[in-house]
Amino acid sequence: MKKVVLACDLGGTNLRMAAVDADGAILHRTKRDTPKSDRADEVVRTLVESARECTDAVAATAEIIALAAAVPATVNVGKGVLMKAPNLPSLDGFRFVAAVQSELGIRTIIENDATSAALGEAWLGASKGFDNSIMVTLGTGVGGGIIINGQPLRGPDGTAGEIGHICVEPFGAPCGCGARGCVEQYSSATAVVRLTRELESQYVKSELQNRSRLTSLDVFEAGKNGDELALEVFRQMGFYLGIALADLVNVLNPEIIVIGGGAAAGWELFVEYVRDQIRERAFREPAIRAEVVRAVLGDDAGILGAARLAHGLV
Ligand SMILES: [Zn+2]
Repeated sequence: MKKVVLACDLGGTNLRMAAVDADGAILHRTKRDTPKSDRADEVVRTLVESARECTDAVAATAEIIALAAAVPATVNVGKGVLMKAPNLPSLDGFRFVAAVQSELGIRTIIENDATSAALGEAWLGASKGFDNSIMVTLGTGVGGGIIINGQPLRGPDGTAGEIGHICVEPFGAPCGCGARGCVEQYSSATAVVRLTRELESQYVKSELQNRSRLTSLDVFEAGKNGDELALEVFRQMGFYLGIALADLVNVLNPEIIVIGGGAAAGWELFVEYVRDQIRERAFREPAIRAEVVRAVLGDDAGILGAARLAHGLV
């Protein structure tokens, strides 16, 4: 029997689960809506249903040895407790591992979702072969995962790698974390839309004027057509992201920085501004060393990182 793990990516919208072998091949996958109720046991019930479906699908040829879940939260990995989940507040303080283990009877692990994505990209994606990497995900917020000497950096409170809350503008936009001017307020997909709204009065000819609905992808499309407002938004987005990453280059001396998430779609419009800030602000040697590359695993990065943990490969 082949040894297979269950890997889960618990998002604010979807709960995705896959059965994954030790080479990272996905043998079966499921996707369900994340329960909107305010009860943690509803989330666990949905997760257990998905786990049973994946287990049944591969049962003929595989033995399930563990489960790992990537969660949008700060996590105490050792205790298996989910500390704080801004988008799923019903899970704050929840003893996640104990609850899942008692239902499924297999070894269970939880990990922060961005750290999982970093582990996935370092296993089979853009940072494969590098022991020191940083992953940044530009989505609703800015997520971060840091791997040093092949090991994820978690910290005793599970907050290591919260790259989105590096301050890049001391008196800047208020952030959900309670501080001001966090890079999340300038470089997330949400921020791309906000910056567009803020600047649109200065660009009366922009095709983005007065749009009732606007996504970061719309701003990217306009930028590809040479729209000056869109180009300025991505310049600012890359500028601020570059400031945050220049700090990390000096502090951590990474070999590679991987950028993923929805707003990474605007890559060609912002990456040179990111590289400029790293070159201008960081020390020469680490700035030359740190490659800035685009993520390649897409939505599967978190699942594959969780699978790698569950297989005990990191
Ligand atoms: Zn913040």
